[in-house]
Amino acid sequence: MLLSDQTLNITPPPHLIFGVNAIRHLPEQIKLLGRTRALIVTDAGLVRAGLAQKVQAVLSEAKIESLNFEGVQPNPTIDNITAGSACLSGLDLDQIVVVALGGGSSMDTAKGIALHATNGGEVVNLDYRVSLPFPALPIIAIPTTAGTGSEQNSYGVITNPHTQRRFYVGNDSAQPKVAILDPELTIKLPPAATAATGMDVLSHALESLASRNANPYADAINLEVIHKVTHWLPLAYADGTQLEARAQMLLASSMVALAYRSGTGMGLAHAIGHALGGRLNVAHGMALSIVLGDVIRFNLAANALPYARAAWAMGVADPARSAIENAEAAAATVDGLAQVVGMKRPLASLGVTSDVIDLLVTDALEDVVLYNNPIQPTAEQVRAIIVKNC
Ligand SMILES: [Zn+2]
Repeated sequence: MLLSDQTLNITPPPHLIFGVNAIRHLPEQIKLLGRTRALIVTDAGLVRAGLAQKVQAVLSEAKIESLNFEGVQPNPTIDNITAGSACLSGLDLDQIVVVALGGGSSMDTAKGIALHATNGGEVVNLDYRVSLPFPALPIIAIPTTAGTGSEQNSYGVITNPHTQRRFYVGNDSAQPKVAILDPELTIKLPPAATAATGMDVLSHALESLASRNANPYADAINLEVIHKVTHWLPLAYADGTQLEARAQMLLASSMVALAYRSGTGMGLAHAIGHALGGRLNVAHGMALSIVLGDVIRFNLAANALPYARAAWAMGVADPARSAIENAEAAAATVDGLAQVVGMKRPLASLGVTSDVIDLLVTDALEDVVLYNNPIQPTAEQVRAIIVKNC
Protein backbone atom coordinates (compact mmCIF):
# COMPACT_ATOMS: atom_id res chain seq x y z
CA MET A 1 0.00 0.00 0.00
CA LEU A 2 1.23 3.52 -0.77
CA LEU A 3 2.31 5.50 2.27
CA SER A 4 0.23 8.44 1.00
CA ASP A 5 -2.85 6.18 1.31
CA GLN A 6 -2.08 5.23 4.90
CA THR A 7 -2.90 6.72 8.28
CA LEU A 8 -0.52 5.78 11.08
CA ASN A 9 -1.73 5.99 14.64
CA ILE A 10 1.27 5.38 16.85
CA THR A 11 0.42 5.75 20.52
CA PRO A 12 3.21 6.41 23.04
CA PRO A 13 4.86 3.22 24.29
CA PRO A 14 5.71 2.71 27.95
CA HIS A 15 8.80 4.40 29.29
CA LEU A 16 11.47 1.78 28.44
CA ILE A 17 14.56 1.43 30.58
CA PHE A 18 17.00 -1.07 29.09
CA GLY A 19 20.37 -2.24 30.37
CA VAL A 20 22.27 -4.67 32.53
CA ASN A 21 21.14 -4.10 36.14
CA ALA A 22 18.35 -1.77 34.94
CA ILE A 23 16.36 -3.29 37.79
CA ARG A 24 18.05 -0.76 40.11
CA HIS A 25 15.80 1.91 38.56
CA LEU A 26 12.63 0.25 39.88
CA PRO A 27 12.38 2.18 43.18
CA GLU A 28 12.75 5.60 41.55
CA GLN A 29 10.12 4.71 38.96
CA ILE A 30 7.68 3.65 41.69
CA LYS A 31 8.26 6.96 43.45
CA LEU A 32 7.75 8.89 40.20
CA LEU A 33 4.35 7.20 39.94
CA GLY A 34 3.59 8.51 43.43
CA ARG A 35 3.30 5.03 44.95
CA THR A 36 4.76 3.55 48.12
CA ARG A 37 3.87 -0.17 47.96
CA ALA A 38 4.36 -2.82 45.28
CA LEU A 39 2.43 -5.99 44.52
CA ILE A 40 4.88 -8.27 42.70
CA VAL A 41 2.93 -10.55 40.35
CA THR A 42 4.99 -13.59 39.39
CA ASP A 43 5.10 -17.40 39.32
CA ALA A 44 6.55 -20.03 41.61
CA GLY A 45 9.35 -20.82 39.12
CA LEU A 46 10.71 -17.28 39.32
CA VAL A 47 10.60 -17.46 43.10
CA ARG A 48 12.60 -20.72 42.96
CA ALA A 49 15.05 -19.05 40.56
CA GLY A 50 15.54 -16.24 43.08
CA LEU A 51 14.35 -13.49 40.72
CA ALA A 52 11.38 -12.41 42.83
CA GLN A 53 13.70 -12.11 45.83
CA LYS A 54 16.09 -10.02 43.76
CA VAL A 55 13.30 -7.54 43.02
CA GLN A 56 12.17 -7.55 46.66
CA ALA A 57 15.73 -6.83 47.79
CA VAL A 58 15.97 -3.81 45.47
CA LEU A 59 12.67 -2.52 46.89
CA SER A 60 13.43 -3.12 50.54
CA GLU A 61 16.77 -1.35 50.17
CA ALA A 62 14.80 1.69 48.96
CA LYS A 63 12.33 1.21 51.85
CA ILE A 64 9.45 0.34 49.54
CA GLU A 65 7.13 -2.26 50.98
CA SER A 66 6.32 -5.20 48.73
CA LEU A 67 3.82 -8.04 48.66
CA ASN A 68 4.31 -11.17 46.57
CA PHE A 69 1.65 -12.89 44.52
CA GLU A 70 3.32 -15.95 43.06
CA GLY A 71 0.19 -17.70 41.80
CA VAL A 72 0.61 -17.01 38.07
CA GLN A 73 0.12 -20.15 35.96
CA PRO A 74 0.96 -20.75 32.30
CA ASN A 75 -2.24 -19.82 30.42
CA PRO A 76 -3.51 -17.83 33.42
CA THR A 77 -7.12 -18.17 34.51
CA ILE A 78 -9.83 -16.01 36.00
CA ASP A 79 -9.03 -17.57 39.39
CA ASN A 80 -5.41 -16.38 39.18
CA ILE A 81 -6.70 -12.82 38.80
CA THR A 82 -9.16 -12.94 41.69
CA ALA A 83 -6.52 -14.55 43.94
CA GLY A 84 -3.99 -11.83 43.07
CA SER A 85 -6.53 -9.06 43.49
CA ALA A 86 -7.53 -10.45 46.91
CA CYS A 87 -3.96 -9.80 48.14
CA LEU A 88 -4.82 -6.08 47.98
CA SER A 89 -8.04 -6.13 49.95
CA GLY A 90 -8.05 -3.65 52.79
CA LEU A 91 -5.05 -1.73 51.42
CA ASP A 92 -5.04 1.87 50.19
CA LEU A 93 -5.08 1.33 46.42
CA ASP A 94 -3.80 4.86 45.79
CA GLN A 95 -0.46 3.72 47.18
CA ILE A 96 -0.13 0.49 45.15
CA VAL A 97 1.84 -0.23 41.99
CA VAL A 98 1.63 -3.64 40.33
CA VAL A 99 5.04 -5.03 39.31
CA ALA A 100 4.64 -7.72 36.63
CA LEU A 101 7.69 -10.00 36.79
CA GLY A 102 8.02 -12.87 34.34
CA GLY A 103 6.93 -13.89 30.86
CA GLY A 104 3.67 -13.26 29.03
CA SER A 105 1.58 -15.07 31.67
CA SER A 106 2.78 -12.76 34.46
CA MET A 107 2.10 -9.70 32.29
CA ASP A 108 -1.38 -10.96 31.36
CA THR A 109 -2.27 -11.75 34.98
CA ALA A 110 -0.89 -8.44 36.25
CA LYS A 111 -3.09 -6.50 33.80
CA GLY A 112 -6.13 -8.44 34.99
CA ILE A 113 -5.26 -7.87 38.67
CA ALA A 114 -4.61 -4.16 38.10
CA LEU A 115 -8.05 -3.79 36.50
CA HIS A 116 -9.87 -6.06 38.95
CA ALA A 117 -8.44 -4.33 42.02
CA THR A 118 -10.07 -1.03 41.05
CA ASN A 119 -13.21 -2.27 39.28
CA GLY A 120 -14.06 -5.50 41.14
CA GLY A 121 -16.88 -7.73 39.89
CA GLU A 122 -16.65 -10.66 37.51
CA VAL A 123 -13.32 -11.00 35.69
CA VAL A 124 -15.14 -11.70 32.41
CA ASN A 125 -16.43 -8.12 32.64
CA LEU A 126 -12.85 -6.86 32.31
CA ASP A 127 -13.01 -7.89 28.63
CA TYR A 128 -11.28 -5.28 26.47
CA ARG A 129 -14.57 -4.46 24.70
CA VAL A 130 -16.27 -3.40 27.96
CA SER A 131 -15.82 0.21 29.00
CA LEU A 132 -14.72 0.28 32.64
CA PRO A 133 -15.53 2.95 35.24
CA PHE A 134 -12.08 2.97 36.87
CA PRO A 135 -8.55 2.92 35.42
CA ALA A 136 -6.19 0.07 36.30
CA LEU A 137 -3.61 0.39 39.05
CA PRO A 138 -0.33 1.51 37.47
CA ILE A 139 1.83 -1.38 36.20
CA ILE A 140 5.60 -1.64 35.89
CA ALA A 141 6.57 -4.59 33.68
CA ILE A 142 9.81 -6.50 34.13
CA PRO A 143 10.03 -9.24 31.48
CA THR A 144 12.22 -12.26 32.23
CA THR A 145 11.76 -13.78 28.76
CA ALA A 146 12.64 -12.25 25.41
CA GLY A 147 9.48 -13.08 23.53
CA THR A 148 6.01 -11.74 23.96
CA GLY A 149 6.54 -7.98 23.96
CA SER A 150 3.51 -7.97 26.26
CA GLU A 151 5.08 -5.17 28.29
CA GLN A 152 4.21 -2.93 25.34
CA ASN A 153 0.44 -3.46 25.20
CA SER A 154 -2.65 -3.16 27.32
CA TYR A 155 -4.16 -6.63 26.81
CA GLY A 156 -3.89 -9.93 28.64
CA VAL A 157 -5.04 -13.36 27.46
CA ILE A 158 -7.02 -15.09 30.21
CA THR A 159 -8.63 -18.54 30.21
CA ASN A 160 -12.13 -19.01 31.55
CA PRO A 161 -11.91 -22.54 33.04
CA HIS A 162 -15.71 -22.88 33.00
CA THR A 163 -16.00 -22.48 29.23
CA GLN A 164 -12.42 -23.52 28.27
CA ARG A 165 -12.33 -20.39 26.11
CA ARG A 166 -9.72 -17.64 26.16
CA PHE A 167 -10.61 -13.96 26.22
CA TYR A 168 -8.76 -10.67 26.41
CA VAL A 169 -8.83 -8.51 29.51
CA GLY A 170 -7.74 -5.03 28.61
CA ASN A 171 -8.09 -1.32 28.79
CA ASP A 172 -5.82 1.54 27.71
CA SER A 173 -5.04 2.14 31.39
CA ALA A 174 -3.62 -1.40 31.71
CA GLN A 175 -0.67 -0.63 29.44
CA PRO A 176 2.41 -0.69 31.68
CA LYS A 177 3.61 2.81 32.53
CA VAL A 178 7.23 1.62 32.62
CA ALA A 179 9.01 -1.44 31.23
CA ILE A 180 12.36 -2.35 32.75
CA LEU A 181 14.40 -4.55 30.41
CA ASP A 182 17.30 -6.09 32.29
CA PRO A 183 19.11 -8.79 30.26
CA GLU A 184 20.57 -10.37 33.40
CA LEU A 185 17.05 -11.41 34.42
CA THR A 186 16.78 -13.58 31.27
CA ILE A 187 20.02 -15.53 31.88
CA LYS A 188 18.27 -18.42 33.65
CA LEU A 189 15.67 -18.98 30.93
CA PRO A 190 16.12 -22.64 29.82
CA PRO A 191 17.18 -23.38 26.20
CA ALA A 192 13.74 -24.62 25.06
CA ALA A 193 11.99 -21.49 26.37
CA THR A 194 14.75 -19.33 24.89
CA ALA A 195 14.17 -20.97 21.51
CA ALA A 196 10.36 -20.77 21.64
CA THR A 197 10.25 -17.13 22.69
CA GLY A 198 13.01 -16.19 20.23
CA MET A 199 11.18 -17.80 17.31
CA ASP A 200 8.06 -15.89 18.39
CA VAL A 201 10.04 -12.64 18.09
CA LEU A 202 11.18 -13.64 14.59
CA SER A 203 7.59 -14.49 13.63
CA HIS A 204 6.38 -11.11 14.89
CA ALA A 205 8.96 -9.33 12.76
CA LEU A 206 8.32 -11.37 9.59
CA GLU A 207 4.52 -11.23 9.83
CA SER A 208 4.60 -7.53 10.61
CA LEU A 209 7.00 -6.92 7.69
CA ALA A 210 4.80 -8.80 5.19
CA SER A 211 1.50 -7.45 6.59
CA ARG A 212 -0.91 -5.80 4.19
CA ASN A 213 -0.72 -2.86 6.64
CA ALA A 214 3.08 -2.67 6.51
CA ASN A 215 4.56 0.81 6.85
CA PRO A 216 8.09 2.23 6.75
CA TYR A 217 8.17 2.96 10.50
CA ALA A 218 7.52 -0.71 11.25
CA ASP A 219 9.73 -1.97 8.38
CA ALA A 220 12.81 -0.31 9.83
CA ILE A 221 12.25 -1.98 13.19
CA ASN A 222 11.27 -5.35 11.73
CA LEU A 223 14.37 -5.62 9.54
CA GLU A 224 16.70 -4.87 12.46
CA VAL A 225 14.85 -7.40 14.62
CA ILE A 226 15.14 -10.08 11.89
CA HIS A 227 18.87 -9.36 11.71
CA LYS A 228 19.24 -9.59 15.50
CA VAL A 229 17.28 -12.83 15.93
CA THR A 230 18.94 -14.74 13.08
CA HIS A 231 22.35 -13.83 14.42
CA TRP A 232 21.85 -13.95 18.21
CA LEU A 233 19.17 -16.58 18.88
CA PRO A 234 21.43 -19.59 18.12
CA LEU A 235 24.04 -18.11 20.48
CA ALA A 236 21.54 -17.44 23.30
CA TYR A 237 20.18 -20.97 22.79
CA ALA A 238 23.62 -22.64 22.83
CA ASP A 239 24.86 -20.74 25.88
CA GLY A 240 22.26 -18.90 27.93
CA THR A 241 24.93 -17.19 30.02
CA GLN A 242 26.11 -15.09 27.03
CA LEU A 243 25.00 -11.70 28.25
CA GLU A 244 25.41 -9.98 24.88
CA ALA A 245 23.17 -12.55 23.16
CA ARG A 246 20.59 -12.17 25.95
CA ALA A 247 20.76 -8.37 25.67
CA GLN A 248 20.26 -8.44 21.88
CA MET A 249 17.29 -10.82 22.14
CA LEU A 250 15.60 -8.89 24.95
CA LEU A 251 15.80 -5.59 23.11
CA ALA A 252 14.63 -7.26 19.88
CA SER A 253 11.57 -8.73 21.62
CA SER A 254 10.47 -5.33 22.86
CA MET A 255 11.43 -3.40 19.71
CA VAL A 256 9.30 -5.59 17.49
CA ALA A 257 6.26 -4.78 19.61
CA LEU A 258 6.83 -1.12 18.69
CA ALA A 259 6.55 -2.18 15.05
CA TYR A 260 3.33 -4.18 15.25
CA ARG A 261 1.59 -1.73 17.54
CA SER A 262 1.81 0.73 14.61
CA GLY A 263 -1.01 -1.33 13.07
CA THR A 264 0.80 -4.02 11.07
CA GLY A 265 -0.37 -6.95 13.20
CA MET A 266 0.24 -10.66 12.74
CA GLY A 267 -0.72 -12.99 9.87
CA LEU A 268 -1.29 -16.59 8.78
CA ALA A 269 1.46 -18.20 10.91
CA HIS A 270 -0.12 -16.71 14.04
CA ALA A 271 -3.61 -17.78 12.88
CA ILE A 272 -2.44 -21.40 12.61
CA GLY A 273 -0.32 -21.02 15.77
CA HIS A 274 -3.32 -19.81 17.80
CA ALA A 275 -5.37 -22.75 16.51
CA LEU A 276 -2.66 -25.24 17.51
CA GLY A 277 -2.33 -23.58 20.93
CA GLY A 278 -6.07 -23.49 21.56
CA ARG A 279 -6.92 -27.03 20.42
CA LEU A 280 -3.78 -28.95 21.40
CA ASN A 281 -1.89 -26.65 23.77
CA VAL A 282 1.11 -26.60 21.41
CA ALA A 283 3.55 -23.99 22.75
CA HIS A 284 3.13 -20.73 20.82
CA GLY A 285 6.74 -20.40 19.68
CA MET A 286 6.96 -24.03 18.59
CA ALA A 287 3.70 -23.87 16.63
CA LEU A 288 4.98 -20.80 14.78
CA SER A 289 8.40 -22.33 14.14
CA ILE A 290 6.82 -25.36 12.46
CA VAL A 291 4.66 -23.47 9.96
CA LEU A 292 6.43 -20.14 9.44
CA GLY A 293 8.68 -21.28 6.58
CA ASP A 294 5.74 -22.64 4.61
CA VAL A 295 3.63 -19.57 5.35
CA ILE A 296 6.39 -17.50 3.76
CA ARG A 297 6.45 -19.82 0.71
CA PHE A 298 2.66 -19.43 0.41
CA ASN A 299 2.64 -15.64 0.86
CA LEU A 300 5.58 -14.85 -1.40
CA ALA A 301 3.46 -15.60 -4.46
CA ALA A 302 1.50 -12.45 -3.59
CA ASN A 303 4.41 -10.26 -2.56
CA ALA A 304 7.98 -11.56 -2.43
CA LEU A 305 9.57 -8.18 -1.75
CA PRO A 306 9.23 -8.03 2.08
CA TYR A 307 10.71 -11.50 2.37
CA ALA A 308 13.51 -10.61 -0.04
CA ARG A 309 14.31 -7.67 2.21
CA ALA A 310 14.23 -10.07 5.17
CA ALA A 311 16.79 -12.25 3.34
CA TRP A 312 19.09 -9.22 3.17
CA ALA A 313 18.63 -8.62 6.90
CA MET A 314 19.42 -12.29 7.54
CA GLY A 315 22.57 -12.07 5.41
CA VAL A 316 21.44 -14.76 2.97
CA ALA A 317 20.40 -12.63 -0.03
CA ASP A 318 22.19 -12.58 -3.38
CA PRO A 319 21.89 -9.54 -5.70
CA ALA A 320 22.12 -11.86 -8.73
CA ARG A 321 18.92 -13.63 -7.67
CA SER A 322 15.31 -12.54 -8.16
CA ALA A 323 13.13 -11.27 -5.31
CA ILE A 324 11.30 -14.60 -5.29
CA GLU A 325 14.56 -16.56 -5.04
CA ASN A 326 15.75 -14.37 -2.17
CA ALA A 327 12.36 -14.73 -0.45
CA GLU A 328 12.73 -18.52 -0.77
CA ALA A 329 16.17 -18.20 0.84
CA ALA A 330 14.52 -16.36 3.76
CA ALA A 331 12.00 -19.21 4.16
CA ALA A 332 14.83 -21.78 4.12
CA THR A 333 16.74 -19.74 6.73
CA VAL A 334 13.68 -19.69 9.01
CA ASP A 335 13.33 -23.48 8.71
CA GLY A 336 17.07 -23.94 9.33
CA LEU A 337 17.00 -21.71 12.41
CA ALA A 338 13.94 -23.52 13.81
CA GLN A 339 15.83 -26.79 13.32
CA VAL A 340 19.01 -25.53 15.01
CA VAL A 341 17.11 -24.40 18.10
CA GLY A 342 15.08 -27.62 18.35
CA MET A 343 11.71 -26.13 17.43
CA LYS A 344 10.98 -28.00 14.18
CA ARG A 345 8.92 -31.11 14.97
CA PRO A 346 6.31 -33.01 12.96
CA LEU A 347 2.85 -31.76 13.96
CA ALA A 348 1.75 -35.41 14.22
CA SER A 349 4.11 -35.78 17.22
CA LEU A 350 2.26 -32.91 18.91
CA GLY A 351 -1.17 -34.48 18.62
CA VAL A 352 -2.32 -33.33 15.17
CA THR A 353 -4.40 -36.19 13.76
CA SER A 354 -6.55 -36.22 10.62
CA ASP A 355 -9.75 -35.61 12.61
CA VAL A 356 -8.32 -32.47 14.25
CA ILE A 357 -7.13 -30.88 11.02
CA ASP A 358 -10.61 -29.68 9.99
CA LEU A 359 -11.01 -27.90 13.34
CA LEU A 360 -7.56 -26.31 13.04
CA VAL A 361 -8.36 -25.05 9.55
CA THR A 362 -11.68 -23.56 10.69
CA ASP A 363 -10.10 -21.93 13.75
CA ALA A 364 -7.27 -20.45 11.67
CA LEU A 365 -9.67 -19.05 9.05
CA GLU A 366 -11.79 -17.42 11.79
CA ASP A 367 -8.79 -15.75 13.48
CA VAL A 368 -8.92 -11.97 13.08
CA VAL A 369 -5.15 -11.77 12.54
CA LEU A 370 -5.69 -13.24 9.07
CA TYR A 371 -6.96 -9.87 7.94
CA ASN A 372 -3.35 -8.61 8.05
CA ASN A 373 -1.99 -11.44 5.91
CA PRO A 374 -0.90 -10.36 2.40
CA ILE A 375 -3.33 -12.85 0.82
CA GLN A 376 -6.45 -14.50 2.19
CA PRO A 377 -5.92 -18.29 2.04
CA THR A 378 -8.63 -20.83 1.23
CA ALA A 379 -9.37 -23.72 3.58
CA GLU A 380 -7.49 -26.03 1.19
CA GLN A 381 -4.40 -23.79 1.29
CA VAL A 382 -4.36 -23.70 5.11
CA ARG A 383 -4.89 -27.45 5.20
CA ALA A 384 -1.98 -27.98 2.80
CA ILE A 385 0.39 -26.08 5.11
CA ILE A 386 -0.72 -28.12 8.13
CA VAL A 387 -0.63 -31.48 6.30
CA LYS A 388 2.84 -30.79 4.86
CA ASN A 389 4.15 -30.31 8.40
CA CYS A 390 2.51 -33.36 9.91
ZN1 LIG B 1 3.44 -14.40 18.82
